[in-house]
Amino acid sequence: MKKYGVIVIIFLIVQNSAWAKLRNGYEKDIHYVRESLKNYNYILNVNKDMPSSDRRKMKARVEELLIYQSHYELTEELLNQFRHISPALYHRVDSIRDAKGRFTDVYVKFIPREDASIMAAGITRMSQSDDDEDACVSEYGKHSVSIKIWICSKALFVLSHELGHVNYQVPNFETYLQYYKTEYSPAFTNSNCVGHSPADRSGRNATTFEKEFKKDYVNNLKLGKGNARLESPLVLIEQIRRKVKLPVRM
Ligand SMILES: [Zn+2]
Repeated sequence: MKKYGVIVIIFLIVQNSAWAKLRNGYEKDIHYVRESLKNYNYILNVNKDMPSSDRRKMKARVEELLIYQSHYELTEELLNQFRHISPALYHRVDSIRDAKGRFTDVYVKFIPREDASIMAAGITRMSQSDDDEDACVSEYGKHSVSIKIWICSKALFVLSHELGHVNYQVPNFETYLQYYKTEYSPAFTNSNCVGHSPADRSGRNATTFEKEFKKDYVNNLKLGKGNARLESPLVLIEQIRRKVKLPVRM
């Protein structure tokens, strides 16, 4: 009987990990980054007579890792802000399922504008799986979506907009793709208008999410609860850069 109990517990843990989540897109490598930083800092401290060219290279690597860490921390902070301001919208994406009822993870990264590959403040990427028309695929694997948002003063509003697209597209992926192919010519796929034809339900849902978030944001300011945590993303990133001891930007 005892053995049976253990099997049940393991099953519950596996079930639990299958829940979808709104996730920090930097979380995949953050453990490796923290461990590498520890190692590099130890080597730099212990090997005082290291050739200066090696020391310079190592310090440059440390700086790259610190930048990664600061973006991880900023993303944590901004996702927490989003949940605090608009728990209902957060939950709708945090538990999202595709047309076959499977949970889908939504990975978010706040990135510097200069690192963006497309000149839009927010971009959502999701492709159709080769063997399953309802399953979303992104660089994070099957059953996942990827969102990238510029670090800017309106970053959370941009996020609410992108989450609106995701909230419509994940459960209606195949239907939406068919609509998308007929509505938008390939020549316009890089345009900011894609996704926002008047009849586009994904675009309309994005606008609805944005409006709801704005309402929640204003209510939050009125109620004055926890405002200290609502600093602008631009202020936050500078605070975090100082905290992780990144060199001051000129
Ligand atoms: Zn949009």
